[in-house]
Amino acid sequence: MFLTISTRGTAATPATDLGFLLHKNPGNAQTFSTSHGTAHVFYPEAEVERCTAALLLEVDPIALIRRGKGKGKGRGGAPDAALGQYVNDRPYAASSVLAVALSAVFSTALRGVCKARPERAAAPLPLRIEVPAVAAKGGPDLVRALFAPLGWDVTAEPVALDPEFPDWGDSRYVRLVLESERLTLAEALRHLYVLLPVLDDAKHYWVSPDEVDKLLRAGEGWLPGHPEHRLITNRYLSRRWSLTRQAMERLELVRLAETDDSEVEDIDNAVEAETEAEPRPTPLAVQRREAVLAGLRETGAARVLDLGCGEGHLVRELLRDTRFTEITAVDVSARALAIAARRLKLDRMGERQASRVRLLQGSLTYTDKRLTGYDAAVLSEVIEHLDLLRLPALEYAVFGAARPRHVLVTTPNVEYNVRWETLPAGHARHGDHRFEWTRAEFAAWAAAVAERYGYTVGLRPVGPDDPEVGPPTQMAVFHRDTTEQDKTGHDKKEAKAA
Ligand code: SAH
Repeated sequence: MFLTISTRGTAATPATDLGFLLHKNPGNAQTFSTSHGTAHVFYPEAEVERCTAALLLEVDPIALIRRGKGKGKGRGGAPDAALGQYVNDRPYAASSVLAVALSAVFSTALRGVCKARPERAAAPLPLRIEVPAVAAKGGPDLVRALFAPLGWDVTAEPVALDPEFPDWGDSRYVRLVLESERLTLAEALRHLYVLLPVLDDAKHYWVSPDEVDKLLRAGEGWLPGHPEHRLITNRYLSRRWSLTRQAMERLELVRLAETDDSEVEDIDNAVEAETEAEPRPTPLAVQRREAVLAGLRETGAARVLDLGCGEGHLVRELLRDTRFTEITAVDVSARALAIAARRLKLDRMGERQASRVRLLQGSLTYTDKRLTGYDAAVLSEVIEHLDLLRLPALEYAVFGAARPRHVLVTTPNVEYNVRWETLPAGHARHGDHRFEWTRAEFAAWAAAVAERYGYTVGLRPVGPDDPEVGPPTQMAVFHRDTTEQDKTGHDKKEAKAA
């Protein structure tokens, strides 16, 4: 495995300062023993104008297997076969082994510490990093998606499986060149330390809980805002779900502390802002909230549930209207609830106001006693976030178990998507939408749910009702048929009390 780091310089800022920054003297070649082989650091060039440090790692494949978890499997097309353990790509392609060697050999540089040249350690350098073979599951596109947002100019060339036989296509390796003038050396090393194993999508050692700390430390300053932070976190932690979740929650908190309220807007709003920038009509999200509020007021409800409340936009509107005496908002996402609490200034709210509102974390696909006894429930832009297979569980939990008298459900009308100029054909409006329905599909669903749980239902458009494709949002308003209730035996207690 091989990696070079080059920089340029002038008489005032000689390139050879790289030696101070890396804590490795350009005059000497040095050798270090690492847990999986031998690392050599040397300088193929060391001039005032240009200086290159090289890290060459000789991996001992046998040590790798003895010490690690035997990551020979699956490599080189010999899964778990005896040979596959010994003949594999580990000695050649940059991966977690190189990342660990980097952090061992350049640990001080990685922390950005340099007593001899502190001002240079803290400043961006012209950098060029080359790795001739990077194992990259996801290919050059993923390589670019990971490095480019960090300020790198990325060259990622696929390496042919065999140059003599171009028909065989590309291997899973790329030649990687990263160039930037905007990053410090420590940042550059930390990017590599995290992203090389992420690209390889494998680790040669068992991923233990302290990997979360390592990731967050190495990711400080760049990971929370990275558009691919979820993929990075998931892969870095070897898809160990519980660790990924821990890391994601900690990243969210960092981001939360960094973001300004005004930036925390949902994607729907962003799409709207883009499409409707010109005459600036009321954004759809606002129209939707107004339609929901109007629907709730018509029902005369005082005690309301906002199910899948997200960041609390509707709750804020509900609080402004004193007819809503009890507002309970539920979401499965702790992050959304944290944002909601912060936006609503729950901690600074007067006692009376605070007593009207409650935020609960919970999943709507499970029945929940805390949600019974309400006048009305809102499911605004929530159902499409559930897998279709989980939807019946939500239907039962809301219409069968919580059983509010009225339920308002909104969801996108997929027919309208052709009217969003910025939406590529066939794309959902939001990355997390599991489905988007036509008007007929939504109507059929609403009728079936109403029938099954003893409600009547009416449908309404939200937003401009296009003659051809209908409105952007569709809303169903369900009312529980109380006489039907008594007959079917639902809510006996309530019937008795009445
Ligand atoms: N109601 C808000 C937010 C819609 S986004 C609005 O109209 O703007 C969808 C929300 O549903 C997200 O906050 C998501 O966390 C939440 N959600 C998705 N699945 C859920 C589930 N199973 N239980 C509870 N909330 C869920």
